Amino acid sequence: MSEGISLPLVNSIPALRVLIVDDDAVDRMAVIRALKKSVLAVDAITEVDHGRGAIAQLQIEPFHCAFVDYQLPDMDGLELIHHLRHQGINIPLIVLTGQGDEETAVEFMKAGASDYLVKSRLSPELLAQCIRNALRIYQAEQAVQAAQQQLQSTNTLLRQKNQALEQHRRRIQQQNVELMRASRLKSEFLATLSHELRTPLNAIIGFSQLLLRRRQQAWTEKQTDMVSRIYSNGKNLLALLNEILDFSKLDAERLELSPQPMDLATLAATTVAEMRSLAEQKSLVLTLTLNLENPHLTNDPIRLRQVLTNLISNAIKFTDTGGVRVSIHAGATTAPETSMPPDQRDLVEIAVTDTGIGIAPEALDSIFEAFRQLDQTHTRRHTGTGLGLAIVDSLVGLMGGSITVETHNGDGSTFRVLIPRHVSNSDGIETALSP
Ligand code: ADP
Repeated sequence: MSEGISLPLVNSIPALRVLIVDDDAVDRMAVIRALKKSVLAVDAITEVDHGRGAIAQLQIEPFHCAFVDYQLPDMDGLELIHHLRHQGINIPLIVLTGQGDEETAVEFMKAGASDYLVKSRLSPELLAQCIRNALRIYQAEQAVQAAQQQLQSTNTLLRQKNQALEQHRRRIQQQNVELMRASRLKSEFLATLSHELRTPLNAIIGFSQLLLRRRQQAWTEKQTDMVSRIYSNGKNLLALLNEILDFSKLDAERLELSPQPMDLATLAATTVAEMRSLAEQKSLVLTLTLNLENPHLTNDPIRLRQVLTNLISNAIKFTDTGGVRVSIHAGATTAPETSMPPDQRDLVEIAVTDTGIGIAPEALDSIFEAFRQLDQTHTRRHTGTGLGLAIVDSLVGLMGGSITVETHNGDGSTFRVLIPRHVSNSDGIETALSP
């Protein structure tokens, strides 16, 4: 309320509205005369002769400054200043004192008066000087106050934002903990489930295999076919369960490699031979190109075979015409041999290229995520958990290698695995030794 009443100040002194608070009419006249004779432009002068009148006047009308007698009939000037400040009326106050009352004047200034004038020394020049100073100080104080308010509100805003951020951070942290717990439970559940399912499934596979071996003469072709289906479907199901089990172990970082000396040429040749019938069922040509002077590696043959099998079976699965080529060679083909650091020089590259449906460029990063299958309709033509590439990626990572994919949508894909020739498990141990 009261702040709205003080007039806006500009850098140059405006035409002034002045309030004079003094019970002595002669003293008021002296101030008015000095004001009018001064160089300052005066718009309006209002006179009151007691403190309460001054307060009422300042509450209803805006003034640039007020002259206040240090002794008023109803209160002294000090009391009046306190009243005004208490009500938030902040205009410059100039105290009028008697001769030799400088000490009192200092008290007034401490209470918030801008300046003081000794009545007996009143002159137009002194008065103008006093008003100018008071207005400038007032302007500076207003600017500081505005800056402080701005700073305070910025601080409050920052504090609120900080609190909100902190709450957000805590919520995310909590969600992370819950997610990790849920993920661990999921992995444990998957591991237990696939483990438990494997036992009866192995019995089904074993007994159907036994039945097929000791086939009865009396069996009709249909009966034989039914038992064969039990056997092959059981094997498919077992492969899927093993995939889930492997994935949950890799996800829980519980899968260890068992590196040992091995022959990659033999491993690749047997794996490709085993998968040939799958390719032939689709009339695809499956070839192996070996360009490796020294085929001896230290790696986990079971896991390396799993990498190869997954990549080749995917290549066959997503190719309808043409073929699949497996090529193995030393080192990286992309970097010149000389510029490679020594520990990277001894690398082996396994590439599986197909002439299949290819992969959309925007999907290249996501295909290595678990349960990610791109073309559901196409994929549904084939069985699959969407875990194959996630497992390959994790296994290659465990081997200290990397996997990349190149594709021309609709024009086939190449999966390139780069692994060190010598791999150790997480303890740095090369496990079993085979001849
Ligand atoms: P799955 O084969 O069980 O679906 P994968 O993790 O092995 O799961 O593969 C994930 C997805 O990546 C596949 O569903 C398929 O969309 C895509 N993909 C993988 N290999 C190929 C390939 N050789 N050609 C085209 N798409 C592929």
